[in-house]
Amino acid sequence: MTALLSALLSVPETPAFVYDEGAILEALQRLAPVRALAGGRLLYSVKALPLTGLLDLIQPAVDGFAASSLFEARLAHEAMARGAGQGALHITTPGLRAEEIGELARRCSHISFNSLEQYRRLAASIEDAASLGLRVNPGLSFLDDPRHDPCRPFSKLGVPLGEAAAALAAERALEGLHFHTQFECRSLTPLRATLGRLESALGRVLRRLRWINLGGGYLLDSAALVRELAELVAGLRERYGLEVFFEPGKAIVGAAGYLVTEVIDRFERGGKTIAVLDSGVQHLPAVFEYQKSPALAGPGADGALPCLLVGSTCLAGDVFGEYRFRRLPSVGERLVFWDVGAYTLTRASRFNGYDWPAIHALRRDGRIEPVKRYGYAAYRSQWQTEGTPLVGGGGDR
Ligand SMILES: *Cc1c(COP(=O)(O)O)cnc(C)c1O
Repeated sequence: MTALLSALLSVPETPAFVYDEGAILEALQRLAPVRALAGGRLLYSVKALPLTGLLDLIQPAVDGFAASSLFEARLAHEAMARGAGQGALHITTPGLRAEEIGELARRCSHISFNSLEQYRRLAASIEDAASLGLRVNPGLSFLDDPRHDPCRPFSKLGVPLGEAAAALAAERALEGLHFHTQFECRSLTPLRATLGRLESALGRVLRRLRWINLGGGYLLDSAALVRELAELVAGLRERYGLEVFFEPGKAIVGAAGYLVTEVIDRFERGGKTIAVLDSGVQHLPAVFEYQKSPALAGPGADGALPCLLVGSTCLAGDVFGEYRFRRLPSVGERLVFWDVGAYTLTRASRFNGYDWPAIHALRRDGRIEPVKRYGYAAYRSQWQTEGTPLVGGGGDR
């Protein structure tokens, strides 16, 4: 058993979400050539995992953050204020609201409007220095699952290129361009194709703009891919004089998160062994939605004996999947799901009234420290409607 696995298995309580500071810094180090060699600007997409301690850890190694809402923008802005206080903060969302645009323009350095209608309705009221741009939809699909495909038919995400070309040529207030069309992609071929289409559709307009944001969605999990991205970034800078941003989330934190869970019951059904875990779909909703089994590690988790690992909620389909063991996991034994750093806690719920996992940080010296526990008080506060002051009635919104 590796030192990492035995450290994870010894967390003081389960279920526990552990984020690995060393793995996050390694990922940032891997991406560094895009900044150092190509002058690209690296942002962290906060929505993947917004823990404030993690934002503080990431901040010195990035050029800023990318937000998808006012709350994310506030959290990132506060992290920037705790740090060097500088850097870029980008936002794009179909959800921009008139009552929020003033504050967003104060906090964010770059706003990419999702539609021309949104731009025309909201841009005029912006007095602050945020640089304005358009999120475009290049119309090139690469994903099989339309639920993840921003370029699906009738997409709500971004302005179609034809419309965007006309607007960018006419509107001097628009200084930049944003697109994001991928999810968990391990090759840069789609990015190359997308840039090709963008350059032929927008041509000279690109030379007038100040910046372009290539979005996220690429895992960039090898040095070769990072070099390839650095070349693409350098090319854009040379040809058009653009400042080039990219804003990965999962590439930075995906492999740096683990969920430690414990077997709390075991029985046979129809000839299959079923082990019930003290976690479930409420902690890893993507397992249910996309029917994907997360990677697993644990003592004995590499053998031939099949065992169905299931969550403890009422949902019949709350199933992690069938795994194979050298020795079937017994009650009280712990297992670890890997590669669950991104889009797990941000999409977790307290469905069935089960608590959120406690959160632990795996420090660089190998110590695991608890950083957050929720418990019944947090659960009650979420649902209590009587006898508490109304939060958010005024300034807290
Ligand atoms: C979600 C998102 C990202 C980050 O995506 P990853 O897959 O985590 O890299 C970046 N930009 C936009 C606009 C997004 O919606």
